[in-house]
Amino acid sequence: MFDFSIAPDVQALLGRVRQFVDEVVIPAEAHAHDDPLEGLPPSVLADLRAEAKRRGLYAPTMPVALGGLGLSITQFTPVLEVAGRSLIGPMALGCAAPDEGNMHLLHLYATPEQRARYLEPLVRGDIFSAFGMTEPAPGAGSDPSMLRTSARRDGDEWVIDGHKWWTTNAGVASVLIIMARTEGEGGGATLFLAPMDSAGIEIVRRVPHMGEPDFGGHAEIRLNGLRLRDSDVLGQVGQGFALVQARLGPARLTHCMRWTGIAQRGLEIAAEYVSQREAFGTTLGGHQAVQWMLADSASELHAGRLMIQHCAWLLEQGEQARQETSMCKVHVSETVCRVLDRAIQMCGGMGISRDLPLSRWYEAARAFRIYDGASEVHRMVIARQVLKQYGVPRKPR
Ligand SMILES: Cc1cc2nc3c(=O)[nH]c(=O)nc-3n(C[C@H](O)[C@H](O)[C@H](O)COP(=O)(O)OP(=O)(O)OC[C@H]3O[C@@H](n4cnc5c(N)ncnc54)[C@H](O)[C@@H]3O)c2cc1C
Repeated sequence: MFDFSIAPDVQALLGRVRQFVDEVVIPAEAHAHDDPLEGLPPSVLADLRAEAKRRGLYAPTMPVALGGLGLSITQFTPVLEVAGRSLIGPMALGCAAPDEGNMHLLHLYATPEQRARYLEPLVRGDIFSAFGMTEPAPGAGSDPSMLRTSARRDGDEWVIDGHKWWTTNAGVASVLIIMARTEGEGGGATLFLAPMDSAGIEIVRRVPHMGEPDFGGHAEIRLNGLRLRDSDVLGQVGQGFALVQARLGPARLTHCMRWTGIAQRGLEIAAEYVSQREAFGTTLGGHQAVQWMLADSASELHAGRLMIQHCAWLLEQGEQARQETSMCKVHVSETVCRVLDRAIQMCGGMGISRDLPLSRWYEAARAFRIYDGASEVHRMVIARQVLKQYGVPRKPR
């Protein structure tokens, strides 16, 4: 009944992805901070993608008909973990957020015209995309029902006004997926597709943030009378919240896969350090307190992998798995931060230094406990379900 084995063809692919990450991607990390704006210079990314394509490894989450590898979710789970062993691995392999989640959404709902215009070049890696849901207070953040960006009809056009921020990739994207309120226009909320260079989209700034610059940045955006047509609606008018759920469930899981890769590499770096460095007459790894850190990290990562695999399997059965993906997101995001924190601790001053990549990864990983739903929000979702299932009112004594 339970079979955790990996099919031989996927195992072979996994070996080739691992080889690409080790031989090509990790050496390119030396350039990951060369560009003051993007971190990784776009030309280096283009070379990495060309090599991934040459090796037949590009776009593992997309169907063959679109130029992807045609893997199911359970099949690409270990592939995304290996891609995630480097922060630039997923970009090199065409499976990085937010493009990967946007490709999934477009694949499910785009019209033939939208597919040709946006999805196909996105899967080829010719363009980037961005997803604008979050707004500064008092707009939508943890609570999407607080959405304030509005779309109103004017003749045969839609006019969109609003304020977004934390729109990842906006600095390089060609297309922006916008979530806007369409109450009174046929539905609660609707997703729109807009060319990023449209009159009416103003990139106010890249939001300065903790850690190193991220490729594409995270922008604050104003939508000032942006004019779109019915053909720019993604899915149906009023379907916005359902489409966001369809995107976010798998997207949370793929984040968990990728971040497990970097945490695993952090654990390996720490294990190497403590097996060589000596203190108090033995290697650091000979001290029980250090062994416990190694054991806890390995065990928590293992539990996370099992949760990811189970969620992937549920999604493959057509389930929404909302509670399970919430549990998985909380566990993995908190595990990744703990594993990297312990790795830094075990490596001492070396861990804090930029001579090792751990401190950069630690800074980058912190946001994972906030985006795609903060831990507290996911715990709320889980607890609501527990209460619904088991919270029977007590009988009077
Ligand atoms: C690096 C990064 C990239 C991002 N990329 C994108 C993107 O591409 N597109 C996009 O639309 N958004 C993006 N976001 C935004 C992200 O999804 C939001 O930051 C997140 O949903 C939280 O919303 P908020 O920041 O408004 O926090 P708020 O809603 O202000 O919440 C702040 C804190 O309050 C607590 N809290 C909230 N609700 C509850 C509750 N019910 N119970 C207990 N505590 C609670 C949590 O601790 C939470 O962190 C990104 C964010 C980051 C940091």
